Amino acid sequence: MEIKRVGVVGAGQMGNGIAHVFALAGYDVLLTDVSEDSLTKALATIEKNIDRQVARGKVLPADKRAALERIKTTLKLADLGQCDLIIEAATERETVKQAIFEDLVPHLKPTTILTSNTSSISITRLASRTDRPERFMGFHFMNPVPVMQLVELIRGIATDQETWETLHEVVRKLGKTASSSEDFPGFIVNRILMPMINEAVYTLYEGVGSVQSIDQSLKLGANHPMGPLELADFIGLDTCLSIMNVLHEGLADTKYRPCPLLTKYVEAGWLGRKTQRGFYDYRGEVPVPTR
Ligand code: NAD
Repeated sequence: MEIKRVGVVGAGQMGNGIAHVFALAGYDVLLTDVSEDSLTKALATIEKNIDRQVARGKVLPADKRAALERIKTTLKLADLGQCDLIIEAATERETVKQAIFEDLVPHLKPTTILTSNTSSISITRLASRTDRPERFMGFHFMNPVPVMQLVELIRGIATDQETWETLHEVVRKLGKTASSSEDFPGFIVNRILMPMINEAVYTLYEGVGSVQSIDQSLKLGANHPMGPLELADFIGLDTCLSIMNVLHEGLADTKYRPCPLLTKYVEAGWLGRKTQRGFYDYRGEVPVPTR
């Protein structure tokens, strides 16, 4: 099935990145959000990020103009009805996502593929609340979307092969690489990455090493581009905690127990870069470890 028009629901961090990469790849994009302010900010962010790519010689100025012209915004979810593919990238709350799909379904063409960019909610459960579980998939982009190469394709229990192949081809056209995952908590990347970050927090909690020695050990000893605590601050400690909770509850194994120190940082509102404090304090010239 050929995809031409793409609807993106949610114009936050991920939604604007998704709109950006689809528009640059030649798709017509209709971006929606409940907040007019988010839509305005998203367009400004997309322009700023494409400018950066132009400055680096990765995108031609003419392609920038064409891409920006391909992105339209609307506050009405129903306007997405004629899209061939919908990517839901709204707030990570199951009731929010369910309501979006319920409101969308009556307006859709029978052939429209529905997807969610969720990091942790069951694709099978979201799909079961729609009229087309066979044409429903997890479409998990990584943050920041214009930079990260991988897209996880997640099959719900009912997803059909044609839907999977259509999305696989879309990922190829975006110039990215797809990995295929079954629908279990955390999919592949977060199932492996988050327990590693959680273990780094336990290592700190038990006094095995300081923030600096833990990050340096993984950077120089395992060739990771960022240390695990630095990476946790980048992702957001609230996000890390919520994914650990999903793994813990969904897989019912104590090995996924979130570290109490991670919980404490989140309770303090020290959520990482976005609040200027996490395992590092970002308020000065250079990040300073907080432990
Ligand atoms: P965000 O908070 O930056 O953006 C969410 C947007 O959704 C907001 O603009 C909000 O106004 C909008 N929204 C809320 N309810 C809505 C509704 N009913 N209809 C339309 N828009 C609505 O969040 P984000 O980080 O962009 O995350 C979005 C999704 O992407 C989540 O499912 C998250 O799990 C997933 N994800 C996030 C990351 C990440 O690193 N942030 C990585 C991969 C996947």
